Amino acid sequence: MVDLVGQHAKIQTELDEAINRVMSTGAFVKGPEVAAFAEELAEFTGAKHVIPCGNGTDALQIALMALDVRPGDEVITTGFTFISTVEVVALLGAKPVLVDVHPDTFTMDPEQVRSAITPRTKAIVPVHLFGQMADMDALMEISESSGVPIIEDNAQAIGADWCGDANRHGQSGTFGLMGTTSFFPSKNLGCMGDGGAILTSDDAAAERCQQIANHGMTKQYHHDVVGVNSRLDGLQAAILRVKLKHLRGYIAARQAAAVRYDALLEHCSGLRIPVREHRSSHMFHQYTLKIENGKRDALREHLTERGIPSGIYYPVPGHAQRAFSQFQYKPNAYPVSSKLAQNVLSLPMHTELNEEQQQLISDAICKFIHQ
Ligand SMILES: *Cc1c(COP(=O)(O)O)cnc(C)c1O
Repeated sequence: MVDLVGQHAKIQTELDEAINRVMSTGAFVKGPEVAAFAEELAEFTGAKHVIPCGNGTDALQIALMALDVRPGDEVITTGFTFISTVEVVALLGAKPVLVDVHPDTFTMDPEQVRSAITPRTKAIVPVHLFGQMADMDALMEISESSGVPIIEDNAQAIGADWCGDANRHGQSGTFGLMGTTSFFPSKNLGCMGDGGAILTSDDAAAERCQQIANHGMTKQYHHDVVGVNSRLDGLQAAILRVKLKHLRGYIAARQAAAVRYDALLEHCSGLRIPVREHRSSHMFHQYTLKIENGKRDALREHLTERGIPSGIYYPVPGHAQRAFSQFQYKPNAYPVSSKLAQNVLSLPMHTELNEEQQQLISDAICKFIHQ
């Protein structure tokens, strides 16, 4: 599904130099590399502040804690996402209020958000799934009229641009009060372990996140709020500084691979290639097909037999996860998410993918579907 070894081989000397630089200074936790990376990512995204932390799940949790989300509160998000988005809300004792997604873009349906808002709603958490952004025109309008802040889960779309109506434009993660991201190795900007960050242009939110991520500390050994220990280490920051310099090229490589898949697969009946949201650029964290006629699982087996990897993101939507049974979601209330869980299939997608590999993958898919 990914080829990190191939990607890293091309920048081996830059990575060696970065890793050696950290080893020679001994600044393994905090230190200049983390600060420099935070500044460089702020510059890249246009966010005023970047607060690095331990992983993308922590980033979401810290952002919610910065809004003082607690038992009795509600947070609106979608269940068609990686578990973290819903998990952190439950972990803080609040109620994840789930809304369904759009069948073409797989992102949060703003109309359902509008009717899900109650006096207890503390935040709206859209997920920029698979690399393109949720409808930020509609969501920002809802946020502004209701006063409920947005936290964008931007773990899959770092670098995406929104060019909407009413002069709304900017990068993913910079629209809401806060945005969060993950540097898990397979993400579009990945390190060599765990890592994450919170983006914000709000000074007070930045200060709160910084404090919460560092044990709620204001000055050494003085703790004003209950926090967590969540930090990006110096080695990962140095690696990320190298990879951030190549991110534009990596994005272009993914987009070129997606265009090649589109051309190879668009005439193949029985499947749908990814739909592009015209207001968002697509970072293609995943290239996800919709397989019609109930053939998804058989196709996946066929590909596996031929040594072709594929992935199902996500086979069980949040409303159907046993971990969330306490919330008593109605099984029929999320028809789009439920159907997508049956139909979606993600193909290998990474910066090193070549035309020959994609030809082989597409041939195997089209032949199987037509038989
Ligand atoms: C990967 C991911 C996360 C969590 O990131 P980790 O660094 O693995 O904790 C959260 N949300 C989404 C949508 C993700 O894809």
